[in-house]
Amino acid sequence: PVASVAEIRKTFLDFFAAKGHTVVASSPLVPGNDPTLMFTNSGMVQFKDVFLGSDKRSYVRAASVQACLRAGGKHNDLENVGYTARHHTFFEMLGNWSFGDYFKRESLKWAWELLTEVYGLPKERLLATVYAEDDEAYDIWTKEIGLPADRVIRIGDNKGGRYKSDNFWMMADTGPCGPCSEIFYDHGDHIPGGPPGSPDEDGDRFIEIWNNVFMQFEMAEDGSVSPLPAPCVDTGMGLERLAAILQGVHSNYEIDIFDALIKAAARETGCTDLHNPSLRVIADHVRATSFLVSDGVLPSNEGRGYVQRRIVRRAIRHGYKLGQKTPFFHKLVPDLVALMGEAYPSLANQAQRITEVLKAEEERFYETLENGMQILDAALADGAQVLPGEVAFKLHDTYGFPLDLSNDVCRERGLGVDEAGFAAAMERQKAQARAAGKFKMDKALDYSGAGNEFVGYEQLQQQAKVV
Ligand code: ATP
Ligand code: MG
Ligand code: MG
Ligand code: MG
Repeated sequence: PVASVAEIRKTFLDFFAAKGHTVVASSPLVPGNDPTLMFTNSGMVQFKDVFLGSDKRSYVRAASVQACLRAGGKHNDLENVGYTARHHTFFEMLGNWSFGDYFKRESLKWAWELLTEVYGLPKERLLATVYAEDDEAYDIWTKEIGLPADRVIRIGDNKGGRYKSDNFWMMADTGPCGPCSEIFYDHGDHIPGGPPGSPDEDGDRFIEIWNNVFMQFEMAEDGSVSPLPAPCVDTGMGLERLAAILQGVHSNYEIDIFDALIKAAARETGCTDLHNPSLRVIADHVRATSFLVSDGVLPSNEGRGYVQRRIVRRAIRHGYKLGQKTPFFHKLVPDLVALMGEAYPSLANQAQRITEVLKAEEERFYETLENGMQILDAALADGAQVLPGEVAFKLHDTYGFPLDLSNDVCRERGLGVDEAGFAAAMERQKAQARAAGKFKMDKALDYSGAGNEFVGYEQLQQQAKVV
């Protein structure tokens, strides 16, 4: 029988509980212990202080299913949604941890046991990467687990510098760090993409499913490393990627939860082609935005709230593209709650509120969306290859189009956006406002990219009127 997402979660936690792990609940998407981090983007976030030694737990082994968001901030997969088979903004990460207890051998052997004996994945489809200098992990894979040497790939410093590697993890510029070993699944040669370490590794044939991080060193200011007294393990596996394999499909967007959400999106938009990428975007974004509201993040013009706004508006624009001229997005909330409310009671409890928040944001954006799209289309009508920065800024400033929304539209048409021109236009407006003496600069939280920038009070007022 095909394993449902609910069964996959339970199997994971039961397996690690039987190996002495304490099952810990998912922590909120807004990290409580780290103001520098925009959103919880992996299972280890709630344990960060345990690794740093400033927090102690009553257990040395833990396992969880963590709700994660990778949009805005350090990890940003927003632009991947609709384009790859494997990326979401919101996803669930299965993880197990050792706080100075077991290390590489147990971690890798248990990962292999769970994947091949419990979940029943075919061994010949699995590959592993190790950090090029990590002979210990290499030997565990090849000599103890018995993975053939041609399927254990050593990855060196491939990101421009010592210890800068896809297979070397660092918590920050200094502090705990160490090599990691990642497990990949080969979906078959009918799908484009090469193995990890090859030039076309970003394809979707070999999909990374599980990262095992070995926190082994402490990095000093000068970039040198020294051994940690009590090495730790931090692992993370994407639930949706595992579910795709177990349910016999290639894409995350074909698994049970997404199949249902995509059908719901088709129902609300009237789109009859279930493979339309816009349906995937809408299905992904209704999860992200609903979970964000349930964790207290409301659409706004700054910080986390602006990321929330960008995700909602990106989804709405895809609905508009499918012909929706009135609010539809919030109508998917009951479908989501039916699929995920049992696993996440706070989502179910707040269903009504989530619906209202999303509906209000939709109504606000629909007031300017159509006019904004006409301006965008007109600016590109003469065969321009790049949307002028001035236009992108006007769309942002007056029509409530986040920069990444304009980017998304242009990318679909194979065109670009003049982002430098956008930034310059924004600067000009700020300078004018400063000169007029009524502008107070505000620094917002953890911004990345011009489109995230807090635009100031005057502009907010302007947006409040228009949008
Ligand atoms: P990729 O290289 O595919 O972008 P990653 O190396 O960024 O993945 P990690 O940071 O190692 O991912 O996170 C651990 C695991 O979480 C990954 O192996 C993958 O299974 C899952 N994962 C990461 N990002 C996403 C995402 N955007 N959507 C769904 N699952 C994800
Ligand atoms: Mg990634
Ligand atoms: Mg990766
Ligand atoms: Mg990884």
